[in-house]
Amino acid sequence: CGIVAITGSEPVANRLIDGLKRLEYRGYDSAGIAISSRGKVERRRAKGKIVNLQARLEEEPMDGLTGIAHTRWATHGKPNETNAHPHMSGNVAIVHNGIIENFRDLRTELEAAGRVFESETDSEVIAQLIAQKMDEGLSAVDAFEATLGQLTGAFALAVIFAGEESVLMGARKGSPLVLGYGEGEMFLGSDAIALAPLTRDVTYLEEGDWAVLRPDGADIRNSRGDRVNRPRVTSAVND
Ligand code: GLU
Repeated sequence: CGIVAITGSEPVANRLIDGLKRLEYRGYDSAGIAISSRGKVERRRAKGKIVNLQARLEEEPMDGLTGIAHTRWATHGKPNETNAHPHMSGNVAIVHNGIIENFRDLRTELEAAGRVFESETDSEVIAQLIAQKMDEGLSAVDAFEATLGQLTGAFALAVIFAGEESVLMGARKGSPLVLGYGEGEMFLGSDAIALAPLTRDVTYLEEGDWAVLRPDGADIRNSRGDRVNRPRVTSAVND
């Protein structure tokens, strides 16, 4: 339902939680966060209110400069901790807004290839597809682009990788995604409201766009893979 993500130069956990609180108005049944740090991706998730996720983070704090966060409104799979995002496979962690319509076919193929699923969601196929392609030798960017071509339905996505502590990827098709510019930091959010405490300097990705963000900037591409320039504007949202 809601996405916030940061690749930056200062710890992200608390700022991701603040962004999720801004997205509470959209409604949700669970929430989660994943951070890439010291060669690993760590994750915390909780059913119910964001304060429950905050309590998990107090028990087991996370540090790191690149992370993704999500509030879920379940479409496929019960609202519980196992189905809460982020979803992980291999070195990949993803958050997803929307619905992957062809997830059953994709899941059947992935399971036939020996991949083991954790959740009942439509979203998990995204993490599994990217991880499978990386296992086959594709780079993170190529695996992400190839996966986007296999998905039908509506999605906004944010993706991070273990061992890639300054890379964040995003894509939008049918669900909005906003890219934000900070000082030595870059952000993604499902709307400008989520990013308001971080920046008002934003680019609204267009239908089919995907982007590779690093702390010093972003490469935006269209669905054909061509690099594109999208307008950079000041969002009208007040902090
Ligand atoms: N379809 C996904 C799920 O059920 C994402 C739902 C959402 O947008 O929160 O997990």
